[in-house]
Amino acid sequence: MKGLWVHAHEYGGEIKGGITDVNMARKARARRILRALKAAGPTVHIELAYATPFQLLIATILSAQSTDARVNQVTPALFARYPTPYELAHANQETVESLIRPVGLYQAKARYLITCSQRLLADFHGEIPRTREALMALPGVGRKTANVLLGACFGIPAVVVDTHVIRVANRLALTSSRTPIQIEHDLQAVLPRSDWTQGSQRLLLHGRYVCRAGHPACARCVIWEDCNWKGKWGGISC
Ligand code: SF4
Repeated sequence: MKGLWVHAHEYGGEIKGGITDVNMARKARARRILRALKAAGPTVHIELAYATPFQLLIATILSAQSTDARVNQVTPALFARYPTPYELAHANQETVESLIRPVGLYQAKARYLITCSQRLLADFHGEIPRTREALMALPGVGRKTANVLLGACFGIPAVVVDTHVIRVANRLALTSSRTPIQIEHDLQAVLPRSDWTQGSQRLLLHGRYVCRAGHPACARCVIWEDCNWKGKWGGISC
């Protein structure tokens, strides 16, 4: 609760009416931020290359502790050889490892790709399930991957929280947590449900290209007026 009062003071004395006013102010600020990001870049998309929900699932599993660019280097050959869960479920693990080696953690990821595909065949007739619970029961699939799939493939609003969203949401005081699930809930509370998917993607891309970890590009930031982070302009990492 203390954190909310501090932010109320920082953002112009909305403290008068108590926590409700603070939450309303935070919500209004979050929506201003989204409008500005949207005006600066009307279209937003996932930077992983994929053509089907299965391919996005595989690419997202591969992206753990890697970069989208690196994943996009390996997936064309991977998807050409294993276009559906059927082929990947019957793959030789060493062959998969050799194809995905550049993304790192390749042995564990190869195992996940194969067992995940086997589970898709056994439990879902090779289709991608459409609930978070079922997605998270698949090998190698955590909440972030499940939310990516829900939002991008099935149109189910979902806030995706990755390392960039954790950093940007904290700098913008849209959360005071470092825990992904708490940040997800905090962003759900301030963004319209219809903006959960694209809104979190905009924050992610803002973090990747502008509000970078070590050297945020504050001089070309379109939301600087709504940012009171102490490292603004100075490039302090957090
Ligand atoms: S002003 Fe700087 S620190 Fe604040 S959101 Fe923009 S880039 Fe990030």
